[in-house]
Amino acid sequence: MSSSPAADPISALREGDAGQADAALEILSRVFGYDAFRGDQATIIEHVAGGGDAVVLMPTGGGKSLCYQIPALLREGTGVVISPLIALMADQVSALEAVGIRAAYLNSTLDLHEAQAVEQQLLAGELDLLYMAPERLVLPRTQDLLHRARIALFAIDEAHCVSQWGHDFRPDYMGLSVLADAFPQVPRIALTATATETTHRELTERLRMQEAEHFVSSFDRPNIQYRIEPKASPREQLLRLITTEHEGESGIVYCLSRKSVEQTAEALVARGIPALPYHAGLDAAVRQDHQERFLRADGLIIVATIAFGMGIDKPDVRFVAHLDLPKSIEGYYQETGRAGRDGQPSTAWMAYGLGDVVNQRRFIDSGEGDAQFKRNARSHLDAMLALCETVTCRRVQLLRYFGQEMDAEACGNCDTCLSPPKTWDATVAAQKLLSALIRLDRERGQKFGSGQVIEVLRGRENPRSAQSRHEELSVWGIGTELSEKEWRTAIRQLLARGIIEAEGEYGVLVPGPQAGPVLRSETTLELAVDRTPAKQPRSRSGRGVGGASRAAEGLEVAERERFETLRQWRTSVAKEKQIPPYMVFSDATLVAIVQARPATIGQLGGISGVGAKKLAEYGEAVLTAVQESFSGRDQTSSRSR
Ligand code: ADP
Ligand code: ZN
Repeated sequence: MSSSPAADPISALREGDAGQADAALEILSRVFGYDAFRGDQATIIEHVAGGGDAVVLMPTGGGKSLCYQIPALLREGTGVVISPLIALMADQVSALEAVGIRAAYLNSTLDLHEAQAVEQQLLAGELDLLYMAPERLVLPRTQDLLHRARIALFAIDEAHCVSQWGHDFRPDYMGLSVLADAFPQVPRIALTATATETTHRELTERLRMQEAEHFVSSFDRPNIQYRIEPKASPREQLLRLITTEHEGESGIVYCLSRKSVEQTAEALVARGIPALPYHAGLDAAVRQDHQERFLRADGLIIVATIAFGMGIDKPDVRFVAHLDLPKSIEGYYQETGRAGRDGQPSTAWMAYGLGDVVNQRRFIDSGEGDAQFKRNARSHLDAMLALCETVTCRRVQLLRYFGQEMDAEACGNCDTCLSPPKTWDATVAAQKLLSALIRLDRERGQKFGSGQVIEVLRGRENPRSAQSRHEELSVWGIGTELSEKEWRTAIRQLLARGIIEAEGEYGVLVPGPQAGPVLRSETTLELAVDRTPAKQPRSRSGRGVGGASRAAEGLEVAERERFETLRQWRTSVAKEKQIPPYMVFSDATLVAIVQARPATIGQLGGISGVGAKKLAEYGEAVLTAVQESFSGRDQTSSRSR
């Protein structure tokens, strides 16, 4: 590889006589700085570059962008990318410009002159990629413009937005079906990270992609460590996660309510951890500002409701934390999937408790929607609870939910794999609890939430039990062998298994559909002993040594210091250029540089993530920073000798 980029390497490649596959690989290496395609990328690129339509289901971080970017570069004309995320288009375009691709966007943030300039560029064939929102694309004026231009392909990003049953439905996506007739000769590629079969079927029909080739990848995200722990004092638990594992790193914290978003962000800031709130109640300008700061800063935490995140392609989000139980596995997997897009070790962590289960049930029961809607919501929640309470590998269960089987029985990188929960025979305890519910109802006509039921089981006097003479019931005090906390743990798990249910406005406990076999002693019931948060598994490579950050986890202690030096260099360059640090180089690339210790431009150019443009732009500066990081280190060690 030559050390200085050609004037226009891309068109040179397109015009070259190498085969298409070779040309694709050449672009991958020259422009993006990567040496091999991942998964289905090569096949998809070849298919689309050859003029075929494609539907691509690939997890977040799987590398969907290259699947349309490279074909757009290989084909004559401009690739038109349709995305619902106007707020992110400017960043997407900057990221492409940073590697030397001619990109632009057309949306409502441009004034008339700016928009006209972009249109001129398009018509003059000066754009490789053009981003726009669906509502703009379907305007007659835009259709006319596109007919006058040379279009290489249409890429429909976030294609699940056309599905009405998914959580991101955008009516404007429905209009995209016109592309099939309006541009029959232009290949279309629809991409999404939403994996369920219903969504896949719907988007295929609605975008009229029946004739397309379908590429469904594995949805596993092996670099994300999945962990779910019982909720004790959630903010303290979150703080421990951040300070022991993710010091100075970027993360997203999801909360259910706007109020808890505000409070959690304040609590983090009060402890000296930079954090910003994001929820639909904030002013649009404030939201936009917080989102931009999150994308640009290194090591900022955003505390948000689920309103935040779609299309955020910040690759170095090192953790996603949930302080409340998500409503469905689909939502949970999308949210956690925002961690570690760069493939580096990352954490998906959740704290959940009995209160979450009761609250979510209550929201559903007392919320709007018809009976069918509520049934669906309940089954979504049940699947989520089953994931929380599983005593086997979380990843196996997650993938199975999406209809995919793992090769191995256990992943080795989730909490249940890293420290398998202890179980106990809870058959008798469950029978005692069910009897208490039945007696209270039959003999007193009463139903209670978990607190009072536990008091009865443990035979603890209180005004309410005195008034109702609970001590005269045969179930009074039959459960003293468990502490209050142990009962709450058991109740949470029994709820998740449908052995009991929480009912109505107050979440009172009643026997559930699965109670029969337990009462009749037809099954034995194994429940997990709660892990105490303090005993959470540490990472495989012994975190905490030489800085508690995940990004540098695979590095030796001395290397971690060099990584920090390079990170600081990156921050200063990003500030100066006013771009997010990851657009300078990703964490993964910095780690590779530390490990390779390049001394020449040629060596640096061979590192994954260093393409021709970045090599020309930053090469010398990186080599200097690398040298400094080493000489600084040698001086310290020679002084200490
Ligand atoms: P998605 O859109 O599927 O979530 P992206 O296209 O944003 O994923 O890719 C995720 C990250 O992986 C990006 O940082 C991208 O540059 C990187 N990446 C994609 N393909 C490759 C590859 N073949 N080799 C190395 N890195 C890649
Ligand atoms: Zn596992």
